[in-house]
Amino acid sequence: MHIPEMFGENVFNLQVMQAKLPKDVFKSLKKTIDEDRPLDASIANIVANAMKDWAVEKGATHFTHWFQPMTGITAEKHDSFISPTGDGRVIMEFSGKELVLGETDASSFPSGGVRAIFEARGYTAWDPTSYAFIKDGTLCIPTVFLSYSGEVLDKKTPLLKSMRALNEQSLRILRLFGNTTAKRVYPTVGAEQEYFLIDRKMFDARKDLVFTGRTLFGAKPPKGQELEDHYFGPIKTRVSAFMKDLDIELWKLGILSKTKHNEVAPGQHELAPIFTITNIASDQNQLMMETMKKVAFKHGLYCLLHEKPFEGINGSGKHNNWSLCTDTGVNLLDPGSTPAENGQFMLFLSAVIKAVDEYQDLLRLTVASAGNDHRLGANEAPPAILSVYLGEELSEVVDALEQNKKYAGKGKQTMKLGVDTLPELPKDTTDRNRTSPFAFTGNKFEFRMLGSTFSIAGPNIILNTIVADALREFADELEGAEDFNAALHDLVVRTIRAHKRILFNGNNYSEEWAQEAERRGLLNLKNAAEALPHFDARKNVELFERNHVFTEREVRSRMEIMLENYSKAITIEALTMIEMGRRDIYPAVNDYIADLCRVVERKKALHIESPSAQVLAERLSATNEAMYAKAGELEKLVAEGKDIHGAEVQARFFADKVLPVMNAMRACADEMEVHTAKKYWPFPTYGDILFSV
Ligand code: ADP
Ligand code: MG
Repeated sequence: MHIPEMFGENVFNLQVMQAKLPKDVFKSLKKTIDEDRPLDASIANIVANAMKDWAVEKGATHFTHWFQPMTGITAEKHDSFISPTGDGRVIMEFSGKELVLGETDASSFPSGGVRAIFEARGYTAWDPTSYAFIKDGTLCIPTVFLSYSGEVLDKKTPLLKSMRALNEQSLRILRLFGNTTAKRVYPTVGAEQEYFLIDRKMFDARKDLVFTGRTLFGAKPPKGQELEDHYFGPIKTRVSAFMKDLDIELWKLGILSKTKHNEVAPGQHELAPIFTITNIASDQNQLMMETMKKVAFKHGLYCLLHEKPFEGINGSGKHNNWSLCTDTGVNLLDPGSTPAENGQFMLFLSAVIKAVDEYQDLLRLTVASAGNDHRLGANEAPPAILSVYLGEELSEVVDALEQNKKYAGKGKQTMKLGVDTLPELPKDTTDRNRTSPFAFTGNKFEFRMLGSTFSIAGPNIILNTIVADALREFADELEGAEDFNAALHDLVVRTIRAHKRILFNGNNYSEEWAQEAERRGLLNLKNAAEALPHFDARKNVELFERNHVFTEREVRSRMEIMLENYSKAITIEALTMIEMGRRDIYPAVNDYIADLCRVVERKKALHIESPSAQVLAERLSATNEAMYAKAGELEKLVAEGKDIHGAEVQARFFADKVLPVMNAMRACADEMEVHTAKKYWPFPTYGDILFSV
C-alpha cells in the first residue's frame, strides 16, 4: 500500500485538474477557486467533460449534486451519465450545464416557511472551491442549495458568505499593518470527532438506538468509566481493523485523517483530521461521519454519533479548532515575535474576545439541540455558559495591558502594542483547561461545545460572522487614526476592559463558576428551547444583514427549523419509549412476576417460605404499573404538544413538560431492570452493549 499515491485518489483535486484540463482552462478555474471569482461560463463544458472522463475511468456511472440541506446531513440525487445516441446505444455524457446547475424538488426539505408550498422548485449550484469526489461509483459535486427566489436553503451558502465577510474585514486590518501581499484570509478548521462503536447485533436489538440514536432505557452497568482505563488505552483488534479501514477510505477521499485514540467512556473513540480551509473541513466532516457509519457496518459494528447514547456515561462532542490563515501561509492567531506581529495578534485576539462576549447567545444556540442538551452543563462537556480561556501566560499579558501595569515576565517595562515585543508564549501549555468552552490553545481557538452529530457549518457561520463584525468595527476606527500605534494600543486596552467578563481560566464545571458567571452578567441558557429563540434578536438580525450572511427572513426560518427539530426529536423519543415500555418491558416484567408468584405458591404448599420472592413480586408489580401509567401520561402530553402553535412555545412545552415524564418513566424501567431475571429482560443491557466490541 502506497499511501501518498492512494491519498486523494477519488478526488478531482488541483493535481488532477492540472493533468486533465487544458492549461488556460485550468488557470481560469484556479483563479475562481483562489480568488473567489465567479466561474467563467465558457469553461464549464470542458471541465465537466474532463471530470466525467476521469470519473468513468475510475468506474463511476452516475453523478450527483451533493448538498447540505437543513436536515443536518447531506443530500444527493443520482443521475447516470448515459445519453441515448438514437440508434439504440448510449454514450457517457456530462455537460457544463449539468455540472454547474441542478434543479431539484425542494418541497420536502426543511425551509422554515421560507419556501411557500407552491414554489416547490429549488436549485443546486456548483461550489468549485470544494473538490468533486467519487463515492460508491458516483461522481459527487459539492453544491449550494437555494430556492428559485434566491433564498438560502442550505448550510454551505451562508458558510461561504461568512468566509467572504471574514476575508474582507481581515484584509482591511492586514493592510493597516502594512501587509500588501496577502490576497485572501481563510478561516481554518480542524474538527475532532468523537463516536462510539458497538456491536451491530446490540444495535439491532434496541429500538431506541434504531429510532433515536440513543438509549432511552438502561441501568448503570457495574463497570462504567470509573477507572478511566479506556482513555488512550490500547485499541482492541476489532476496533483497530475498523480504524485502519476507515483511514484508507478517508485518505482516498483526500481527508487528512491523522490522530485516533480511545476516549474516556468504554466503546468511545476519537478521530482528528489535520485542519484545512473551513468550507472544505465542513464538507469533509460530513463525509467523514458518513464513511464512519459505512465502514463500521462492514465490520459488523455500528457507529453511534449521537451526543448522548448512554446515560451516566460520557457523551460525544466535536471540537472545532479554528484559526485564521492568509494565502501566504501566515496564521493570524500565532503570537509572533516582532512588535508589529504582536500588535496585530493582540488586535485579532481582542476581536475574538469581543465577538464571543457580544454574541454569547449565538454561539450558545448554534450548538443547541435535543441531543446536545444532555451534555452541555453536565460536567463532562463545557457548561452552557460561554467564556474564553486564555491560559496563564496570555492572561498575564492581557491583565498587564488592561491595568497598564508592568508585565512580570518582562522585567521593568510596561508594554506598548506595536512598539514592544510580547513575551514568548509557550505554544502548547500542557495544563490546558479542558473544561473551557472556548479555549486559546497556542495558535488557534478551540470551540468545544459542538455535539458529535453536528454539521460544523452552523457554528462556523456564527464564528466567522461575529469575528468579521468585530474586525469591521476595529478597521473603521483604525483606518482614520492619526497615530496608528497609539490608536491600536488604546483600542486593544479599551476592548479588553469592556469584555474582560468573558475571560475565565478556572474550572468551568464548578458550581462557583455558575454563580460567578451570573454576577458577571453572562448568559446561562440551560437548554435548546431557551437558547434558540435568541436567534432573531434585533442585534443578531442586524449583525447578519450587515455582513450579508442571512436576511431577516432566513434567520427566522432557520430558528424555526431548529426549534421544530428539537420538538420532533423529543416526540420520536417519547413515542419510542411508550412503545418499548408497553410492548417490551411491561409484558416481560409481568412474566417474571408470574414466575415469582408460582414459586411463592408452590413453596407455600411445601411449607417453605420465600419472603424475597414475595417482596420482589410486589415491588416489581408496583413499579411496572407506575411505568405503564407514565406511558399513558406521556402519550397524552405528546398529543397535546403536537397541537401547540408556535415553534418556541412548543419547544418549551417539550422541554418543561414532556422530558420530566420521560425521565420518570425511565427511572421506573431502570429500577426494574436490575431486579428482573436476565432471561426476561427484553433487550441488551448497558453492560452488554458497552463491552460488546
Ligand atoms: P488536542 O486538542 O487533542 O490536543 P491538537 O492540538 O493536536 O489536539 O489539535 C487538534 C486539532 O486542531 C487538529 O485537528 C489540528 O489539525 C487542528 N489545528 C491545528 N492548528 C490549527 C489551525 N491553525 N487552525 C485550525 N485548526 C488547527
Ligand atoms: Mg481538542
